[in-house]
Amino acid sequence: MPLPLIYHDDYSPPFPAEHRFPMDKFRLLRDHLVDSGLVSDDALLRPQLCPTDTLALAHDRDYIARFMSGQLAREDQRRLGLPWSEALARRTVRAVGGSLLAAEQALQHGLACHLAGGTHHAHYDHPAGFCIFNDLAIISHHLLANGRVNRVLIFDCDVHQGDGTARILANTPDAITVSLHCEKNFPARKADSDWDIPLPMGMGDADYLQVVDDTLNYLLPLYQPDLVLYDAGVDVHKDDALGYLQLTDAGVSARDERVMRHCLGRDIPVMGVIGGGYSKDRHALARRHGLLHHSAHRVWTDLGL
Ligand SMILES: [Zn+2]
Repeated sequence: MPLPLIYHDDYSPPFPAEHRFPMDKFRLLRDHLVDSGLVSDDALLRPQLCPTDTLALAHDRDYIARFMSGQLAREDQRRLGLPWSEALARRTVRAVGGSLLAAEQALQHGLACHLAGGTHHAHYDHPAGFCIFNDLAIISHHLLANGRVNRVLIFDCDVHQGDGTARILANTPDAITVSLHCEKNFPARKADSDWDIPLPMGMGDADYLQVVDDTLNYLLPLYQPDLVLYDAGVDVHKDDALGYLQLTDAGVSARDERVMRHCLGRDIPVMGVIGGGYSKDRHALARRHGLLHHSAHRVWTDLGL
């Protein structure tokens, strides 16, 4: 069977073209993966909207209701940094549904990738840094509550710390939060993940990949999770507008491939979300996010999954 890839047309709603957040990148990523022959549009798996009860496993119900009805307080609106619309609310809940579907597919087939997801700055009762609901925390609570997994490990390689995920899951010992991030970067006030690995500015491919290898070689045998949620943020890239780690395309590709091989080599299913990525050149950005799906496809084919 083909590698499970999850996408929905809701992901890129109408949005101000010059906004700092590249809302069209999800559609451009889909176009790129189709144009490069990785997948046909009708083979992409379309998710349901995530039910409110599932969102509420990780979020305050009043916050969910305020956001869905467009009634965030001014301070929350400022922290979010995205203009509210019904289409934004719908894409937000659809994308959480997509991450859930990706996790289910990974548990069934070993590997699955989302064409969105990784909203790791979202907190229990407020948004932050373009993130509204925290898909990684929601999935973790959902799978643990349903007994689908006994332990889940979140391997967050976005260049920014996964502070929302760390705080929401702080008292959930069976959800292990791991964040590799540039030490000098948003958010200014860091949370405590189970494992924080702050990295120096300007770190290039070789040193970074060594840290990825060492971290997974230590943590995967230590915790033996039933599923790894991998945030493959490309804001580690040298051309990213918000990152400082100076990775090349080859470095990002190698990172993604190694993470998946580390997991699958130990018979641990892994699901990938795209995480952060920022650039005025939206086509270049879409190609950069697509490195994850191309890497996943190589791993999938090699392992004969
Ligand atoms: Zn980021």
